[in-house]
Amino acid sequence: MTPRIYEKSEHQIPKEKIDPAALIVIETLRKAGHIAYIVGGSVRDLILSHPPKDFDLSTSAKPEEIKRLFNRCFLIGKRFRLAHVHIGSKVIEVATFRKGDNTNESLIVEDNEWGNEVEDVLRRDFTINGLYYDPQTETIIDYVDGYKDAKKSLLRAIGNPFARFKQDPVRMIRLLKFRARFGVLIEETAITALFECRNEILKSSQARILEELLRMLESGYGDPFIKLLAEHGFLPLLLPKLSESFEQGQNDAVFEFLKEIDSIVLSEPKKTPSRSVFLSALVFPLLERHLRLLSENREKPMHLGEIQEEANFMIRDAFAPFLILPKKLSSSMVSILTSQFRFTPIEKKKQTRQRIPAIPDFNLALQFFELRSRIEPGLQTLYQEWDYFWKKHRERPPKRTRRR
Ligand code: ATP
Ligand code: MG
Repeated sequence: MTPRIYEKSEHQIPKEKIDPAALIVIETLRKAGHIAYIVGGSVRDLILSHPPKDFDLSTSAKPEEIKRLFNRCFLIGKRFRLAHVHIGSKVIEVATFRKGDNTNESLIVEDNEWGNEVEDVLRRDFTINGLYYDPQTETIIDYVDGYKDAKKSLLRAIGNPFARFKQDPVRMIRLLKFRARFGVLIEETAITALFECRNEILKSSQARILEELLRMLESGYGDPFIKLLAEHGFLPLLLPKLSESFEQGQNDAVFEFLKEIDSIVLSEPKKTPSRSVFLSALVFPLLERHLRLLSENREKPMHLGEIQEEANFMIRDAFAPFLILPKKLSSSMVSILTSQFRFTPIEKKKQTRQRIPAIPDFNLALQFFELRSRIEPGLQTLYQEWDYFWKKHRERPPKRTRRR
């Protein structure tokens, strides 16, 4: 199979845009006699004039051979074995060329059969993700007509989308992610396949879906992504509780949060909230509504211990039955969500003293409160007061303990 080669005069990608750490890894692999290219997302992003997030490499070297060439290299993954090469503070992901059968419809449980550079492109998901960049010649190597598709902003599956989605249903979520992120058009057969294969999504690994969801929420395109999941019928499968509340028109506040988070990520990337903060945005409006209803029929106000229990329950309920949050993430969310009712108690009359509690993740709770105050300007003064006390609290010298 002969590839189409795009010279620098045509693609015009300056080599300076390539991470020097990726270039070092390629050079080392080359010197040891292996083939190595930059591949996938970063090549696509450079053609579409988006800043690449990370540089993935593809090579003829086997994992053990890669490991032997670098001082700090770790082999990870069972389903998909690859090497993480550490260069300074950077981690470069290096995968060995592998092959796959694009017509086989059974679920891929392990993808570690080595192949050559053509086979490796053909087992990738979409044509725009199937391009190699060779830094030595500064050319793009295209076996799948991906360059033309990228220029046309067209998302096309490599091979038959029905089979490719059945083999690995996560590809459907990736399709919606690229649609949300780049506004690409989707080829018609892939749209039909998406509707036909969507129930297969529950066969995929929840950890991979959760990772794609988290990556999207922190990408600056969380709002369009969640809307696309809903429009294409994936939300009732993946997040049924949220989906139901959207359908009943009870939860528009979530989209206000998502829009605000997107605008922060895109305009002030350094301020990107942590994962537990933006996941809390998916749960907070539901929790607030639930607590309001609960407290209506009570004489005594709810105390924070009860609220914490409700928050715990609501987090589990919001992601069940498919997604399971890692413990660290969910306990941070409990802390963030419970603290919101310290800032703004459900019973408005109740006066709160601004005392900084000794709880984990209070700084994240405050970050979430800031998010709320951006959406609801009436909360800004209160947020600033708490922020002031928090900063003062942090400046306090640590308490002396008496030596025995
Ligand atoms: P992002 O910008 O979110 O990182 P990406 O396309 O780079 O998007 P990665 O998960 O980093 O996504 O994957 C790197 C490359 O590996 C992809 O560009 C694609 O070529 C290939 N790939 C990733 N996931 C799959 C999959 N499920 N099936 C086939 N190929 C895949
Ligand atoms: Mg990537």
